[in-house]
Formats: sequence, structure tokens, C-alpha cells
Amino acid sequence: MREESLILRGASVQALPRRNRTWGRGRVCAEEGCTTRLSMYNRSKLCWNHEPIRYYIARGRKKRRAVAA
Ligand SMILES: [Zn+2]
Repeated sequence: MREESLILRGASVQALPRRNRTWGRGRVCAEEGCTTRLSMYNRSKLCWNHEPIRYYIARGRKKRRAVAA
């Protein structure tokens, strides 16, 4: 009985080490004519210059109403 429970406690399957995620070396921006090299950690196909930038849009009260005195 005891032995069985020991066996069930075997090594967990999740113990595999994670690989660093990289996206290939020497990639170049997908934009035509652009030869900017992409970082292998950059998962985008475009360089920072062609990547559409998403600015953080601050929501809420940004506009301050200029109250004319
Ligand atoms: Zn580019």
C-alpha cells in the first residue's frame, strides 16, 4: 500500500525547463525596402519604425475645460 502511493508521487510532467523564446536571428523588417534588422526577441515582423504604434490613450478626464473667467 505505501509503496503504491510513493510511485504515484513520481516526477511531475511540468518539470521541463522552458526555452527562451526567440523568433529567429537575422530577421529583417517585413516592410518593403526596409533592411532594419529585427531583434530576435521582437516577435513582430516589422521594425520599430514600421510597427504601428499604439500609444497608450489616457481615458478619463484629460480635457480640462478652460473656464473663461
Ligand atoms: Zn522597417
